[in-house]
Amino acid sequence: MTRASAAYERLSLAMIDNPPECSGLDLFTADDLSSDDVDVCASICATCPLFDLCSQYAEIDRPKAGYGPGNDTAQTTSKRRKRTNG
Ligand code: SF4
Repeated sequence: MTRASAAYERLSLAMIDNPPECSGLDLFTADDLSSDDVDVCASICATCPLFDLCSQYAEIDRPKAGYGPGNDTAQTTSKRRKRTNG
């Protein structure tokens, strides 16, 4: 078992007893987020009982899309504009 799969398994098991608020919310899997969207996601994550496990998984696996703690790949409109315009 890889470190990433072990971290994902720990997170998945914890989700059984603590379904996170992000579950089923399109905002957390959207390709493009406004800064207001990011603020909403951040506020949900800030009170999530799974925050530490989720952060550990994200730190190891570095998800390529979606919003999550430590996932700086979440694309916001402003970040995309800065990259495009330099
Ligand atoms: S910390 Fe955020 S992204 Fe992770 S499970 Fe909780 S609500 Fe979802």
